[in-house]
Amino acid sequence: MMKNSRRTAIKAGVALGAVGGLGLLAELLKEPVEQIPSVAPPAAGKPVWSNWSGINRCQPAALLTPQDEQGIVDIVRSASGSLRCVGAGHSFTALVPTDGTLISLDQLAGIVEHQGFNVRVKGGTRLAQLERELDALGLALHNQADIDAQSYAGAISTATHGTGRELQALHAKVQALRIVTPSGQTIECSTVNQPDLLHAAQVSLGSLGVITEATIEVVPAFRLHRKVSLMPLEEMLTSAPSLATQNRHFEFFYLPFTGYAAAITHNVYEGDAVSRPPSADESMLHDLRQLRDWAGRFPALRRWLAQKLIDPALTEEARDRSWKLLSTSRPSKFNETEFHVPQEAGIACVREVIQALERHNDAYFPVEFRFVKADDAWLSPFYRRDACSIAVHAAGGEAYRYFADDIEPIYRKYQGRPHWGKLHTHRASDFAGLYPRWKDFLEIRKQYDPTGRMLNPHLRQVFGVAT
Ligand SMILES: Cc1cc2nc3c(=O)[nH]c(=O)nc-3n(C[C@H](O)[C@H](O)[C@H](O)COP(=O)(O)OP(=O)(O)OC[C@H]3O[C@@H](n4cnc5c(N)ncnc54)[C@H](O)[C@@H]3O)c2cc1C
Repeated sequence: MMKNSRRTAIKAGVALGAVGGLGLLAELLKEPVEQIPSVAPPAAGKPVWSNWSGINRCQPAALLTPQDEQGIVDIVRSASGSLRCVGAGHSFTALVPTDGTLISLDQLAGIVEHQGFNVRVKGGTRLAQLERELDALGLALHNQADIDAQSYAGAISTATHGTGRELQALHAKVQALRIVTPSGQTIECSTVNQPDLLHAAQVSLGSLGVITEATIEVVPAFRLHRKVSLMPLEEMLTSAPSLATQNRHFEFFYLPFTGYAAAITHNVYEGDAVSRPPSADESMLHDLRQLRDWAGRFPALRRWLAQKLIDPALTEEARDRSWKLLSTSRPSKFNETEFHVPQEAGIACVREVIQALERHNDAYFPVEFRFVKADDAWLSPFYRRDACSIAVHAAGGEAYRYFADDIEPIYRKYQGRPHWGKLHTHRASDFAGLYPRWKDFLEIRKQYDPTGRMLNPHLRQVFGVAT
């Protein structure tokens, strides 16, 4: 959405770099970017697992892909050492790593049956597959996350969410779960049968057992009309609450050091018209990176350049099936922190987050601001609290220590609850004050896993369990 096309922006960069003395100028202006140190090469002979962004990796004793639920029961009963489940590996926190047995449910995928708007789905089903199978039945998920690469069980286990003031996170639609417990028993819980267990298990970080199936409430298939427009930041901060009320889905992305934010709305439309121009997200990201690379050391120059390059009048529109518009693909790797603050504190919090982020000259990824409705799952960051979700990203391979040092204190000030799958430094003592049913969850966890088979170092810190 920059005034100059992506190609023009690159041309300008190449020109700066190519012309003798200007090449030197470009180098002088360039912000030195701190990189994450590379990890040691893996030991031979063992499987290697790494998460999507590459910051978590492990070499489990075994990485197993059972064919069915009985296969999971057999593994749980026979394995020694710790047990963890992996979905699509799209969490940034170290939820998955283990040196014991890692179980992937990739072979347990697809819809098992459906009755009206209740659908029973296998735990390993990727959201992209689920959306397509639902669509073929004339059904859809009520909402979606930014991407659909996740497994269903992995997504609900960390309270994955989309945006919409009246729309809850994915786990809130779970009516029943089938779980292989750490002792190898298969149990079921639902809104009528053991509802407390269901409320604990809906968001449980893979700590209560292996979720093999979920029954979820879905909605009739629907189509969405997307509109994207740019606004000066102050106008966006003032308009965001009413835009969230007026639109089924509303979110905004603030473009660092530009003074502008992109408002994205999605609303239901009737009819068959479809138009989906290719996404401009990657070229926008490229432009933002170019600006950082050229003028990162000089924020005032960077802002001035951005004002010259951005065309605030540019808009984008698309119409298509809900799942084709709500989720996208993210080819550029990044690391991310996201906290969910009480909705009434959202604007004040994001304002401070933006100020803190712009003290880091190497930042260029947009800040994402979303709305999520409250639910009843005990470890849901939206537990009985409507929230605004505020996310900060750093490019893959680049340093992100400032999330913890400079951004997290702001989230804490506003009683933010961290996204379970995104980077945070909270410990059990922090969670105890943020989650009214924290102790109840810990009791259920201990009841089902008294020896801590399904814990790893990260979860021991989260739950306050000694090694
Ligand atoms: C590019 C990108 C975009 C994202 N966008 C969003 C977004 O818009 N909204 C949002 O809320 N989040 C988002 N996320 C975060 C992501 O949705 C969550 O981290 C989610 O948990 C990832 O699902 P997964 O299948 O990869 O699970 P994994 O990361 O593999 O696992 C997550 C947790 O689930 C557990 N688990 C997995 N399978 C099972 C099972 N069968 N039984 C029990 N436990 C299990 C694991 O043990 C682990 O604790 C994004 C992440 C990335 C990388």
